[in-house]
Amino acid sequence: MQVPGAADFDAQLELDFTAPAHDPHRFRRPIELRVGTVRRRHVQAVLESDRIVVTHPPRMSESEARRIGEELRVRLERRIAADEIDLEARARKLARRYGLPRPASIAWSDRQQRLWGTCTSDGVIRISGRLAELPGFVLDAVIVHELAHLVHLDHGTEFDTLVRRYPKTDLATGYLMALDHHGFDRHEA
Ligand SMILES: [Zn+2]
Repeated sequence: MQVPGAADFDAQLELDFTAPAHDPHRFRRPIELRVGTVRRRHVQAVLESDRIVVTHPPRMSESEARRIGEELRVRLERRIAADEIDLEARARKLARRYGLPRPASIAWSDRQQRLWGTCTSDGVIRISGRLAELPGFVLDAVIVHELAHLVHLDHGTEFDTLVRRYPKTDLATGYLMALDHHGFDRHEA
């Protein structure tokens, strides 16, 4: 019998918002594997109170189900963390405090694997969902960075002066550098 590989299954996410919002063990919750019925074709991850229940097709090996379940856990926890953050309110507050323009819109993006933030010339800001799990000052530094791009699209001296209005810019830059070496965004030289 041929055991299907991961490519044969679609990953599927379902959220259960009955879980407490500020669970101290909110990240790296334990995974519980369950074998689905013969009709199940997808791996599904559902948050159930303090754990993530991963139901997999019966023909899938346990190690493969656990590997996919782990990927789903990361995405699920990232989404939960992002839902707890009011990005628009945060950007408004930072813009007011540091004398920067407000964006036309600001939203999370799951597609940004390499960039922490992006900003278009018409003021549309996208923030990587990965930031939802990081300390708040790192998220704020990226928001301030993108807000400053509403004034200067390059990373010149004047831009630098703007982002340094936020006192933890250097600290956040160091934090992100330690995570990976990608810059804040595509405007990075
Ligand atoms: Zn930039």
